[in-house]
Amino acid sequence: MQGLIIENISNLYKIKTKKGTYEANARGKFKKEEITPVVGDKVEIQILDEENKKAVIEKIQERTTYIKRPKMSNITQLVLVVSSKNPKPDLLLLDKQLAFVEFLGIKAIIVLNKTDLDKKKEFEKIKEVYQNIGYTVIETIAKDLEDIPEKSEIRSIGIHNLEKNLKGNINAFSGNSGVGKSTLINAIFEEKQTLEGEISQRNKRGKNTTTSIKLYEIDENTYIADTPGFSTFDISEIQYTELDKYFKEFKAEIENCEFVGCTHIKEQNCGIKQAIENGKINQSRYDRYCKIYEELKEKEKRKW
Ligand code: GDP
Ligand code: ZN
Repeated sequence: MQGLIIENISNLYKIKTKKGTYEANARGKFKKEEITPVVGDKVEIQILDEENKKAVIEKIQERTTYIKRPKMSNITQLVLVVSSKNPKPDLLLLDKQLAFVEFLGIKAIIVLNKTDLDKKKEFEKIKEVYQNIGYTVIETIAKDLEDIPEKSEIRSIGIHNLEKNLKGNINAFSGNSGVGKSTLINAIFEEKQTLEGEISQRNKRGKNTTTSIKLYEIDENTYIADTPGFSTFDISEIQYTELDKYFKEFKAEIENCEFVGCTHIKEQNCGIKQAIENGKINQSRYDRYCKIYEELKEKEKRKW
């Protein structure tokens, strides 16, 4: 039978199937092959005890993606949460996470949260920059502001919009601590009356009580990875010489660079620099590219 690993508690796996959730260990052979099942794996199981829902993992299907920390596979979309205010938007981190998305070859949604705190609506500028590149940007208020009725409607629209964009994906959230990831996930669960059992479970285990990752099904074929204690993905797997490929709006301009292997930093006759001049590429995005490039290069050097 086919199933999806939704949780791993010290190598005892919870596997969701059409016939319910089973608990399973992995066959010994996986150890020999030096492969360990992880949350997100699609697996084939053999049922050992139907009554007590015990099974054993026979086979791991090929993974579309694999992330080392936190250990997860087959994620199809990252939800990159940025806070409009308190803490202020960290766009350097956002660009790193977006590069990681392109590196993995998956999808991204950018969520601008805490828009209620941004009275001057400065988030609008951020929204424009990333929408122009082609990313989906959603404004949200995650926190329930019961005392401000007009905000309550905006909140509901934002959460619905986010939910709609999660559909059909295995989603993981990323963003600095304090930007509102946990509050957003809880807000989505609140909407899901039918999964009430699941909601209370999530709240009960709290934020720091466990390090185990869990996939929650919020809709058919739609999952949210709950990753306690985790905030952002480590991008050091990306080679600095490849970074330009993962800046989505750079792609079309690279062919105008005079030099093959142009880094777009010190070279003359660079397509990226021309694109900045005629307004096709955002200057600040480019500045952050240079920063990330240098950081990755430094890391690479220190490896040797
Ligand atoms: P996480 O570390 O990313 O999971 O952030 P949390 O979800 O724990 O949120 C951090 C703090 O920000 C909490 O005190 C939340 O109540 C608050 N918060 C989250 N979203 C919003 C929002 O949209 N507006 C406001 N005003 N506060 C928020
Ligand atoms: Zn160039």
